[in-house]
Amino acid sequence: MQDTNKRVYISTYGCQMNVNDTERMFSLLEMANYSPVATPEQADLIIINACSIREKPVHKVYSEVGTFRLLKERNPQLRIGVGGCVGQQEKENLLKWSPLIDFVFGTDSIDLLPSLVEKAYEDNAGKIVEAKFQHRSPYHIETMVRKPGVATFVNITKGCDNFCTFCVVPYTRGREKSRPLSHVMEDVKRLIQRGIKEITLLGQNVNSYESECGADFSDLLERLALETPLERIRFTTSHPKDFNQKLANVMFRNQPKVCEYIHLPFQSGSTRILERMNRGYTREEYIEKIAMIRATIPNVVLSTDIIVGFPGETEEEFLETISMVQTIGFETIFAFKYSPRPFTKAAKFTDQIDEVVKDERLARLFKAYDVVAQEMVKRYDGQILDILVEDYDEKRGNLHGRSSQNKNVYFIGDKSLVGQTVQVKITKAFPATFRGELVTHDFVTAGAVTTGLMAQEMEISGLENSL
Ligand code: SF4
Repeated sequence: MQDTNKRVYISTYGCQMNVNDTERMFSLLEMANYSPVATPEQADLIIINACSIREKPVHKVYSEVGTFRLLKERNPQLRIGVGGCVGQQEKENLLKWSPLIDFVFGTDSIDLLPSLVEKAYEDNAGKIVEAKFQHRSPYHIETMVRKPGVATFVNITKGCDNFCTFCVVPYTRGREKSRPLSHVMEDVKRLIQRGIKEITLLGQNVNSYESECGADFSDLLERLALETPLERIRFTTSHPKDFNQKLANVMFRNQPKVCEYIHLPFQSGSTRILERMNRGYTREEYIEKIAMIRATIPNVVLSTDIIVGFPGETEEEFLETISMVQTIGFETIFAFKYSPRPFTKAAKFTDQIDEVVKDERLARLFKAYDVVAQEMVKRYDGQILDILVEDYDEKRGNLHGRSSQNKNVYFIGDKSLVGQTVQVKITKAFPATFRGELVTHDFVTAGAVTTGLMAQEMEISGLENSL
């Protein structure tokens, strides 16, 4: 880098995988003397890191790039790059579409970002596209977070081999690769030295993790539980066809370190639609899997992803989805309308569902779930939960942390408690967030707390459909 005082703004759309990638981009660019800034107006370099799982974020990229026209006119030195799944998917099309974009990079080219930026600043640099899949084997990527805080995400797999017919991930993130177990262990130990107490193991399908030494996901989970001083371990996303008894046993025998929370997308309650989605399980098999999990981990909390309006979905099949939501007892659902994605099989299905019908089904699903959710959260009122405190809001004087069941809890307390596990009595349980009172410290103060992070929680937790 020639200029040592440049400033970078990164705009991020999508799931936790993308948020993690943005952290990695910031870290790499910081090493190349770029400082992060809060607005595009302050930046010399703007990067849009965007997800393409649904149509909406792709449209957002196009409209956001347009808003940078004035900035580029004012500052000819400004460089604009587009990355993430949108970069991987659209490649040269992005450059054809907008002359404002200087470079495009894919999901496997993040580590090349500093050199791409340097090239983009060269005289007569021209436009740059770097979106090849790097066929390195095995997959080895260290966690890069600037300020790790209390809890962080650790990638253990990338890509996916499942080719669900609605999903663009195998095309934008490539085929599945697992990190060697020894690399994950070393990575986690480094994070612990930096103060991390909780990790979430991250992958499109963590259950199909397979280390070169033959260890599977259950082995990795147990090694982390037994051999590190982590306080909590979570993972996402799981695939119902790969979630097995061995994993449930490992989760149970390593409680409370391994959290009693599972995100298990079912996508549709209809076996015919599941088959068309290429999900690899039937409605009955999903229900049996839940029964196995509950029999092994009695207090487990479940969440799921659902798609409504998949091509050919009849009213009766949609009602089967509603009945799954009503009978299984998910504590959180992430539901989306089907949207056709490039390259995918389902995009070519001729029996696409009308948007009005999809909207109406989605609304009915949420309405049905609302009744379930209101009922389910009641059991938390008055309960005392162990909360690992993650952050402190200076303005409100609130602490925020999560329970083992992944419940976001807000309560009044001292900043010094960040990083500690405390007991909190739940005083009000909303479907997405709880408020409570500290019960293990002398300076307990009951009071109002924010419940406004629902949208953020939705973004972070809805992994499978957001990937
Ligand atoms: S929905 Fe999940 S399992 Fe299916 S292809 Fe996409 S990432 Fe893979």
